[in-house]
Amino acid sequence: MRLFLLLAALGLLFGATSAAPAPADTTMLRINRLPGKGRLLLKKGWRYHAGDDPAWARPDFDDSVWDTLSPTRPRRELPVRLSTGISWLRLRFRLGDSLRRHDLLVNAEGRSAVEVYLNGRLVQRQGVIDADPATVVPRSRLSQPGQVSAGGPAEQVLAVRYAPWQPPLLIGTDRVPQLVPSLFSPKAFWQAQARERDNAQVFLVLLGFSAMLALLHYAFYRYNPKQRANRYFARFALAAALASFGACCMYTLNLNSLKEFLLVAGASNLLASMTGLWAVRALYALFSVRPGRIYAGLWVWYGVGVLAWMLAPFHPVTMYIGAGMGVLFTAEELRLTVRAVRQRRRGVWIIAVGFAAGLLASLGYVGTELLSASVLVTNLCIVAAFALPALGISLFLAREFALDAGLLQVQLAEVERLSAQTLAQEQEKQALLAAQNETLETQVAQRTGELQRSLTDLRATQAQLIQKEKMASLGELTAGIAHEIQNPLNFVNNFSEVSTELMVELQEAQAAGDAEEVTALAEDVAQNLGKIIEHGKRAAAIVKGMLEHSRTSTGERAPTNLNALCEEYLRLAYQGLRAKDKSFNCALETDFAPGLPLVDVAGADVGRVLLNLFGNAFYAVQKRQQTGEAGYKPTVSVNTKRLNGQVEIRVADNGTGMPAEVQAKIFQPFFTTKPTGEGTGLGLSLSHDIVVQGHGGTLAVDSRVGQGTTFTISLPA
Ligand code: ADP
Ligand code: MG
Repeated sequence: MRLFLLLAALGLLFGATSAAPAPADTTMLRINRLPGKGRLLLKKGWRYHAGDDPAWARPDFDDSVWDTLSPTRPRRELPVRLSTGISWLRLRFRLGDSLRRHDLLVNAEGRSAVEVYLNGRLVQRQGVIDADPATVVPRSRLSQPGQVSAGGPAEQVLAVRYAPWQPPLLIGTDRVPQLVPSLFSPKAFWQAQARERDNAQVFLVLLGFSAMLALLHYAFYRYNPKQRANRYFARFALAAALASFGACCMYTLNLNSLKEFLLVAGASNLLASMTGLWAVRALYALFSVRPGRIYAGLWVWYGVGVLAWMLAPFHPVTMYIGAGMGVLFTAEELRLTVRAVRQRRRGVWIIAVGFAAGLLASLGYVGTELLSASVLVTNLCIVAAFALPALGISLFLAREFALDAGLLQVQLAEVERLSAQTLAQEQEKQALLAAQNETLETQVAQRTGELQRSLTDLRATQAQLIQKEKMASLGELTAGIAHEIQNPLNFVNNFSEVSTELMVELQEAQAAGDAEEVTALAEDVAQNLGKIIEHGKRAAAIVKGMLEHSRTSTGERAPTNLNALCEEYLRLAYQGLRAKDKSFNCALETDFAPGLPLVDVAGADVGRVLLNLFGNAFYAVQKRQQTGEAGYKPTVSVNTKRLNGQVEIRVADNGTGMPAEVQAKIFQPFFTTKPTGEGTGLGLSLSHDIVVQGHGGTLAVDSRVGQGTTFTISLPA
């Protein structure tokens, strides 16, 4: 890209020198020799006339009335008529003797169509002349020159029929020279054209080189999309390849008209400029710099350049924009490179060296251009100026690629090592787990055995405890019963003693023959015997009850008088307690519902429930009494009630009461707050079972700490 701009800039420079003011006109131009380069610019001595007349080609036509003019001036400095339609220019010249001995060539360049007549004979025709500047077909790029044969007349006349080309859209066409007629030595002319064609070879080389780069870096990008620099660099190379292709066409195709030439040149130039943008972008990616305002600015500048090229290819501003673009792109590339060098990016020196070498090659190119060195050297410089920086970036990328690959290799080895390690650890873990599982299983088996054993033990203990509870209640009962039996037994004993004494008295009375006394005494004895029988029966009933209680309940139900049952067991329980503790006293209150129907229950079972409730109640009031509370009167009451289809037995005490957390657990088996030996914790649990499961009733509790407790049994009547 820099090259094209360089070329353009140089063109502008030369254009400017060729547009230098011409010296005063003379009627006859004397030419004794050609300048060193073998080309003489025919700037002065021309006369012109607007209009079209074939006679104006004739050498003997008198043009002395025509105006003089210098056609190499920019079009806008020339008379208006010259730039609007067909007009003629004529030049009289005299060749020096030495020049007349050789053939010469005449060539007219410019943005126009021309016909050149030498001494009235048509020697060169370029483009198609038309009166309308918009339909004029401008000359082609590589033109066939007109012949000025050796040994011609000393004085000759050059007449140029001329029509300017003015495309309607283009701006600035009037800033370039109108017509550039020159006299050439044939050698110089053909050498110049050959040189243009040689340029094509340079660009052919560049085309191949860039296409290869594009392919390579695109492949790099495909294989490793993470390195985006390759993608941008591939774009850079592609644009360069296309631009080179355009340049090749520009120099080799014999484009018929300047229009097509400009089109190809424009496209080629824009593509060439685009390489700069992609090179910058590649460097951004390469050095991990986020493209920011500067990059956007470069694109804007490029856009402006494209517009300028399309609208005003001949305007100097376009050249300045293009040259500025080159400078800006290069500056940004340099800035990025310098930054990277400062940051000591590995291998960035390759790019830096590439740039430096490219810059040197560019300078070399300018040098060869100024010194007119051989075409080969010039072309080498051009290729080098472009290829060396590209090669630098390319090598850098390749190096990155190789380093990345090396790094990957190292990382791969590390990964392999780590995965092997992980695998080994995993296996070890598995083995450990298996071993642990085994021990766990044996432990579980062991524990299960132990649990099984303790469960069996527990069951045995439970059975024992239940038995104990039964025995405990039996113990209480026995004490009560013993006390109860004591009473009738005393009666029996007393009455027996009294009866024995009475019998002695009776025998004495009989012996004394006191019949009246005998009858009275016999009556007394009979009375006593009745009492003995009565109390004997009572004792027998008590024993029977005891036997019933100790017997395992059959659960057989019979119609039972609950009032009597309550009374009996209340007394039994109270006496049982008092047998153990003589000092204990308690008020017993009963309130039995009169006419309570017989209820179908298992009497022994309900008796056991009542015995337990009374036992608990007496224990609670005794405990409260033991606190020594002043004015405390221990009371246990029992009442029965008939309540729509139910019979309710209420056992209440004014003992210690229970907090809520105790109440929540009292029906659980083995829950007790009493010291060992005094309680089994089974009483209420068994009672609950008997009432709820055995009889389909309910057992409820209501208790307040420090106030007392009430248990309520509801049985379906
Ligand atoms: P045990 O009498 O062997 O302790 P129970 O099942 O008969 O077992 O009673 C369980 C617990 O309920 C008792 O330890 C006691 O804390 C509480 N309890 C039962 N009845 C009463 C009551 N009338 N007053 C206070 N606490 C009671
Ligand atoms: Mg109890």
